[in-house]
Amino acid sequence: MSDEHLHYLEAARVAASVREIAEDFVKPGVKLLDAAEKIESEIQSQGAFMGFQACLSLNEAAAHDTPAMNDGRVLKDSDVVKVDFGVHVEGCIIDQAFTFNASNEHEKLVSASKQALDDALSVMRAGKTVKDVGQAISDAITKAGFRPIENLCGHSLAPWVVHAGVSVPNVPVGDYVLKEDDVFAVEPFATNGAGRVEDGSVTEIYALVDDRGARLPQSRNALQWIHEQRQTLPFAKRHLLPVLRSEASVNLAVRDLLRQGILREYPILNEVNAGMVSQAETTVIVEKDSVRVLV
Ligand code: MN
Ligand code: MN
Repeated sequence: MSDEHLHYLEAARVAASVREIAEDFVKPGVKLLDAAEKIESEIQSQGAFMGFQACLSLNEAAAHDTPAMNDGRVLKDSDVVKVDFGVHVEGCIIDQAFTFNASNEHEKLVSASKQALDDALSVMRAGKTVKDVGQAISDAITKAGFRPIENLCGHSLAPWVVHAGVSVPNVPVGDYVLKEDDVFAVEPFATNGAGRVEDGSVTEIYALVDDRGARLPQSRNALQWIHEQRQTLPFAKRHLLPVLRSEASVNLAVRDLLRQGILREYPILNEVNAGMVSQAETTVIVEKDSVRVLV
């Protein structure tokens, strides 16, 4: 087995353990900020690194909802929360998510994305196309009475890259043929809305896209942290608070680096009809006759 695969397996071990812990403490009454920080600190204390910020996307927010620096939101009984976090070892990233709805009001919606993930995994092997995978996802979600989100996709993973170029759609499109040793995050999204997401007005997630320096002292300090801790991996604005020590400085640095095109932003993604959204996600390695499910 290659070193790379060993790193994926080690990241997967930590991701599975942290997921188990998260399933215990992501409960009504928990502060979203505390939950995200706990997930991220558990990853570190188990000897791995944050692949990307922990997201707790609520209800019609499908993805990219990570708590703000001063976030006061508390999980409610009725919330449908997508808990999505990444773990990396030497840049090899495990991407996983689960959905929790304490009231069980949306149990069928939650089951639909889980079933779609199971069905997707059972068709995946070398030689199948991503269209075959999208078909399995779409069929499972439609059969359950919901819509797949057509403009959200799973993705290939590569060292230090979360979205490495190949998309794994929720609908039957795409010609890419799966190859042995390909690493994919597979993530069906089901909704009772229209089946599309759009950028919302809130952004808390950023990543480095240009290696230029900056002049502003706050921006230079932020960049130093980004180069040391994140390289090109995404991070949350709140991660800069211990580095820059005030919300004002963080906001100043992020605005400055965005304006110069040094950072890119990842806005929250909301279902266009404010439909409820569920997600199930795991990371796999493609094998000759099946996939190895890592977490
Ligand atoms: Mn994910
Ligand atoms: Mn993903």
